[in-house]
Parts: sequence; structure tokens; C-alpha cells
Amino acid sequence: MATAPALRLPDVDAMSAEDVLVWAYEQFGDRMCLTCSWQRQSSALLHMISELGLDIPVVELDTLVLFPETYGTRERLVERYGLELRSFRPIDAPDRLWEREPDRCCHIRKVEPLERALAEYDAWITGIRREQSPTRANAQKVEWSERYGVWKVQPLVDWDAKRVQAYIHVNEIPYNPLHDAGYPSIGCVPCTRPVTAGEDERAGRWAGSDKLECGIHINAPLIKESND
Ligand code: SF4
Repeated sequence: MATAPALRLPDVDAMSAEDVLVWAYEQFGDRMCLTCSWQRQSSALLHMISELGLDIPVVELDTLVLFPETYGTRERLVERYGLELRSFRPIDAPDRLWEREPDRCCHIRKVEPLERALAEYDAWITGIRREQSPTRANAQKVEWSERYGVWKVQPLVDWDAKRVQAYIHVNEIPYNPLHDAGYPSIGCVPCTRPVTAGEDERAGRWAGSDKLECGIHINAPLIKESND
């Protein structure tokens, strides 16, 4: 666990998503990265960063079992915004581990690659939103992550899905077509299904189990870090 270095925080709650990005860039410069899952939040943030002219490294956690539509969205966004994408992939992921030990599978395919990525940065921009799940309801626009030893910058925490989608449409930004096919939240193929009317936004993730998160956005690891 790492303690927070001194940082003078403005009233970020009163700031727009764009102003949060500009403020964070002034603090961290290229010691800050954006992680992209190629869902609608990634599209919106990439566009904002491009419009603001901020030179922020872009990182993806490629679990190797993402949807073809997700990989296609990645290619369209890379081309549109001229991204020099840094991809972090799992090391030795056992086949079909998601069926037996989903928390360990998420650790191998997502958490450990994220730890490798963040080791090079002081701050991490994520696209999480408070309405996505109870585990995200208290997310802040800027907060210290003891677990990763970085500042988390989350400009869209107070946006809802409709606002993100409207921003995408107005600005004609490429986005993941699965959002129009019943997938409000998109993860790996084996663990994501479309939702039906009235279901929560993330009801299609790990459906049929009580698992809500892959583990990268919570403060305590879902499994012990030692691979025992
Ligand atoms: S979402 Fe499923 S397939 Fe993807 S890393 Fe987690 S358990 Fe594995």
C-alpha cells in the first residue's frame, strides 16, 4: 500500500470533464495514462483528449478474449485519433479459467497487466461512472489509489450513459456497435451477455454469479496477490 503524495486538489466536483483533464495534465503530464476498454467511455475520453490537444499515453488491457466488435472499435479509434497504443496482455492465462475461477482469471488477464502498466505512471485516467454499479457509487473525479500507488482521474463519474452516448453522437465519434445490440457494458466474450429491458447496466457481466467487478477498480484485490 502506498500513501498519497502531496497534491493540492481544486474543487474538482465543480469542474467539467474537460477541465478535470486539463488540470490533471498540468499536474502529471505524460506521467499519466488513459486506459481504454473500447466501451463508450473510451470513445468519449479519447475525443476530449484529442480536442484539448493533450499528449496522454493510451493503454489497453487486451485480455485476448474480447469481442470482434471491440477489436474493431479499437482499430477505428486508433486510426481516427492516431493513437500510439500500448497493449498489455496476460502472461500464461490458463484456457477456460473463467469457468472455474473467474476472479483468478480476471487477475491474470486484467489486474496483473494493469499493475505492469501503471508501474510506469503516477496517474491513471479511467472512464468509470457512478451509476454503473453499487461498487462505483462513491467514485471521485480525483482520488488516490493506495493499491496501485497512483492518482485515479475519473472525469466522467457524474455522467450517465445517455449523456455519454449523446456526446458521441454529437461529435460523430466511433463507438462499440455492441452498445446498440443490447450490451450497455462490454467485457470479455465468455463473461458478457446482452441485458433485457429493465435490467441494470452491468447485469450482463458475470450473469448468474454474484461477481460485479473484474477487480481493477476496487481497493482490495479479489484474490491473494501471490499465485499460490
Ligand atoms: S471477464 Fe471473464 S474471461 Fe475476462 S478476465 Fe474476467 S473471468 Fe476472465
